[in-house]
Amino acid sequence: MELDLGLSQNMLAAIGGIFGLLLGSFLNVVILRLPTKMHREWRRDAQSYLGLESEPQTQVLNLSKPASHCPSCGTPIKPQHNIPLISYLFLKGRCNACGAPISIQYPLIELLAGILAGFFIYQYGLSINSLYCIIFSYSLLVLAVIDLHEKLLPDEITLPLLWLGLFANINNHFVTLNSAVLGAIAGYLCLWLVFWAFKLITGKEGMGYGDFKLLAALGAWMGWQMLPMVIFLSTAVSALVGIGMIALAGRNKDIPIAFGPYLATAGWIAYVWGDTILKNYLVLFDLQQY
Ligand SMILES: [Zn+2]
Repeated sequence: MELDLGLSQNMLAAIGGIFGLLLGSFLNVVILRLPTKMHREWRRDAQSYLGLESEPQTQVLNLSKPASHCPSCGTPIKPQHNIPLISYLFLKGRCNACGAPISIQYPLIELLAGILAGFFIYQYGLSINSLYCIIFSYSLLVLAVIDLHEKLLPDEITLPLLWLGLFANINNHFVTLNSAVLGAIAGYLCLWLVFWAFKLITGKEGMGYGDFKLLAALGAWMGWQMLPMVIFLSTAVSALVGIGMIALAGRNKDIPIAFGPYLATAGWIAYVWGDTILKNYLVLFDLQQY
């Protein structure tokens, strides 16, 4: 199913890219506010559980309120200073009111969101497939960045992603429903087993439940067959980065590193290029007949 507007492939991809930039602004808001909102709720729940008087409700916080403002001086951001990418370049990366530097993360997320939308629309046109690919990629992007900062993979994103993956495959869209269901189960259980084995042996917790849910979601989207590749890519890269950080930056090896960004990146690579990688691997080792 593909919508044909009579536009060239390049034109469609460019328009998709611009929409992607705008959606990237929204992703920035989610990345910034969702963890804060969760921390507030946990605090409130903990206080109510302990019978403590809850603190007076501070400012309302959701995805639309308060309006975007500079985190340094609190000045609301004018619409003309809120244009994705362009405003950052125009303001030379500084707040127009107080001159405080604006995090490079904002334009990077916007740019990445634009490229991802353009990339999939170029490949698959205006189709359900493009929509699925963009939702999948944006969810992984948001999860990776939140986990990097907060060591946290919110259920608010991992669980809907898992259900949407199963839903997408009801009619065998990416993989058969069988592989998708098995992928979700195996994704969750294999990390769950590693977690408990590690905990029983060392007494430490090596990763979080968010990681299990994320791998379950990846299994639901691309089937159990892709899980070994995702696990291999993510552990190999995280081990290299971890060793590099300990060796080069003198990082304490007991400080945990977030595994979510590696899972998300490996998952995205397997989603987009997994079939190609598998095919070449089989050719390389002459294993096609098996
Ligand atoms: Zn400011």
